Amino acid sequence: MSDEPPETPKGSTTATVGRVTFEIERQLALPLAPGLYLVSTPIGHLADMSLRAVATLARADVVYCEDTRHSRTLLAHYAIRTPLRPYHEHNAEEQRPRVLRELADDRVVALISDAGTPLISDPGFKLVRDAAAAGHQVIAVPGPSAALAALTVSGQPTDAFFFAGFLPAKEGARKSRLAELAAIPATLVFFEAPTRTAATLADLAQELGNREAAVARELTKLHEDVRRGTLSDLAQGFAAEAPKGEVVIVVGPPEQRDISDAMIEESLAPVLESLSLRDASRVVADTLKVPKARVYDVALALKRRDRS
Ligand code: SAM
Repeated sequence: MSDEPPETPKGSTTATVGRVTFEIERQLALPLAPGLYLVSTPIGHLADMSLRAVATLARADVVYCEDTRHSRTLLAHYAIRTPLRPYHEHNAEEQRPRVLRELADDRVVALISDAGTPLISDPGFKLVRDAAAAGHQVIAVPGPSAALAALTVSGQPTDAFFFAGFLPAKEGARKSRLAELAAIPATLVFFEAPTRTAATLADLAQELGNREAAVARELTKLHEDVRRGTLSDLAQGFAAEAPKGEVVIVVGPPEQRDISDAMIEESLAPVLESLSLRDASRVVADTLKVPKARVYDVALALKRRDRS
């Protein structure tokens, strides 16, 4: 094979097809060093598979995946016949020694998840840790991830962001997690199930303050939809009509302006005349866009001072 792509008219579809064909053939012909390849796959749109991802899966000795039936469809789409084996949260403990033996035998092992980037709220972290500790090469073949796709379309700042994954389902754990996240000076990214989206948006508004946010749904798919607004407005909208499909919630950072306890007290005083401590804290937290827990602490101290 020559090192140069075939000559075709510039700018034409034929030229692009020629170049892509040339590139995938070149990738497929390159030798693949032994190691663990973490290959990102589409989050919906099959064409988001990178040429390198196709070539890596095609040349691997084995592909580990969460669900072999699901991943067989993807591999069949690209006529890849590499054997698939399951690696998921229920069999990872038994499978890991087997994968490590294959790596020790200088095999090319690929890991994919059902969609997106493996290890991102998906299995693989312990495998990577153990493979690296055993001296094996661990190579990323990067590509789609719902977290980054949602962040980029959210309209929220991207200079600093914190990926928070799925929130705990139980109320107590969820509240304490949100209290930890409230002070982080960065955009927050959450995965969420569609049925829980409205409730989670309401919890976020209550615990983080009524920040600007976005809900990115079914990214790269037919019914892709991004809604932007305050957490409360989004919560109301989705309470009226629950979203369908897969959802990422992106929440803007806390306001940069410094809000002193004295400013919170000033806002609280009139509201406390007609509302309970809890309700007054919620109203002021929403108005000042500061975490409710902080306002509540200031309100408690104010009440105690008034009583003494
Ligand atoms: N590892 C994957 C990645 O990098 O995108 C994420 C796996 S996690 C188990 C699945 C969650 O990702 C879904 O519940 C949803 O929150 C989000 N997600 C996956 N695909 C999506 C899509 N096309 N649009 C919006 N969210 C998506």
